[in-house]
Amino acid sequence: MESASQVKRVIVVGGGIGGLAAAWELTEEAKRQGLELEVRLLEAADRVGGSIRTDRVDDCLIEAGPDCIVSEKPWGVQLIEDLGLADQLAPTNDADRRTYVLWKGKLHPLPDGLILLVPTKVTPFITASLFSWPGKFRMALDLVLPKRKTTGDETLGDFIRRRLGHEALDKLGEPLVAGIHSGDPETMSVASTFPRFLQMEQEERSLILAMLRRMRAARRARERAAAEIDAGSGTGSGAPRRQIPRTMFVTLRSGLEELVAELARRLGDERLELGQKVTGIGRGPDGRWEVTKAEGGPEQADAVILATPAHVTAEILACLAPGVAEELREMPYVSSATVTLAYRREDVPISPGGFGTVIPKGEARRIKAFTWVTTKFFERAPADTVLMRCFVRVPPGENVPSQDELRRIAARELTDILGLPEPLWARAYRWERAMPQYVVGHGARVERVEAALAELPGLVLAGGAYHGSGIPDTVRVGRERARELVTQLRA
Ligand SMILES: Cc1cc2nc3c(=O)[nH]c(=O)nc-3n(C[C@H](O)[C@H](O)[C@H](O)COP(=O)(O)OP(=O)(O)OC[C@H]3O[C@@H](n4cnc5c(N)ncnc54)[C@H](O)[C@@H]3O)c2cc1C
Repeated sequence: MESASQVKRVIVVGGGIGGLAAAWELTEEAKRQGLELEVRLLEAADRVGGSIRTDRVDDCLIEAGPDCIVSEKPWGVQLIEDLGLADQLAPTNDADRRTYVLWKGKLHPLPDGLILLVPTKVTPFITASLFSWPGKFRMALDLVLPKRKTTGDETLGDFIRRRLGHEALDKLGEPLVAGIHSGDPETMSVASTFPRFLQMEQEERSLILAMLRRMRAARRARERAAAEIDAGSGTGSGAPRRQIPRTMFVTLRSGLEELVAELARRLGDERLELGQKVTGIGRGPDGRWEVTKAEGGPEQADAVILATPAHVTAEILACLAPGVAEELREMPYVSSATVTLAYRREDVPISPGGFGTVIPKGEARRIKAFTWVTTKFFERAPADTVLMRCFVRVPPGENVPSQDELRRIAARELTDILGLPEPLWARAYRWERAMPQYVVGHGARVERVEAALAELPGLVLAGGAYHGSGIPDTVRVGRERARELVTQLRA
């Protein structure tokens, strides 16, 4: 009896990658720290994974949400390795890594050497068809412009205009952040989305000089690492060196859903409950946390991790912490939609060039980006099939179009832009309020929220809403919070 009462119980709410990574880390860290811990994950939907979903149609692999993980941020790849999935890691096809920008109806390649909006190679930049001469001159002015005197947050739009000029914003900044974050640079916080930019400016004044210095340092580090591996110190016991592909973006051979499926397998049915929508949280009569659900009785726990989107977390916390709920409600989310379309290779009139194209707002297109899936990734479709994926623009506050409408929009735009015929088939996915927007003041808001929650020990937030919205940061935060909780519970 006594030992049973000592078993601590943690509930994780939300079975996206953030909640799953947290739940699995809880079980692993508890083992490491010798703590008896019961972990339970409550997920509202009838599947885990949240935005991560892989489907198969006609021997084609479709990513409904994320399609790759940036490998420079190590936490996504680290989780894949920790789960024993390293053999599944797949590189992108970097033989043709070009990105294009649609400008005045024409496709322009991004110049070679352009890293995070910053040109680092002279000739490709000077000869780039995308920028006008005044635009190029204005970008190069970054080399001599002084750094900003104040260090507070500002919008990404203001930052890019200030350092690189409005052409860099209109032709690069806006379409790239719309394509990647579904974001609007005129509201996005530079401190929360591209903190490296601020750091580069503050430390080295010019982004171009800072980027060049960083590239040199990275090259030296790579050379050192390669030399160490060649000398045998990288493998430890002389075991054969495992070849892990490390392109800038990586994925999993059978799709990213394999990552969440493996986490779910590791957790097991006894810890994972689908179809359990959490509606609130409070204190039970014994002082433990009490989680209420749309169906079934409340559940008690010693600690709770809320890994739901911020607008859902706001409703869950509405009675317990109305101030925090109000802050969370003010975090904007935008909706998005993806459409994957299949074409017979022989029907595609132009040769698939590069990974894809981003489309500035000024082009007045209904899609904001498209990817040549079968160029970017290996083994996604039979050899006679070309797969394309479009991101459909959903302006803030507007409803996501129906799946039929999305398919029509994507097919029509690809016909207009590339001259593609009707697709063999198309699959559309609607992502309602799925992408958190880190607007100016985001960092300060998250600090206030976390300071208020520090008064409620055992209640923590995870997920992509707070400290980085991509998979690597979401994994990092989930695992960190889990480790911290186990340490607290043990104490
Ligand atoms: C279209 C799209 C493309 C993207 N592309 C990339 C990419 O290429 N690379 C990348 O790194 N990132 C990408 N992202 C971002 C990435 O998907 C997210 O960073 C990550 O999936 C967020 O995980 P999460 O666990 O925080 O949230 P979610 O995945 O949103 O999971 C939240 C979970 O909570 C559940 N839930 C909601 N309400 C309740 C409730 N009341 N009770 C219980 N459970 C509830 C939901 O059903 C869901 O399963 C993309 C996102 C989208 C939408």
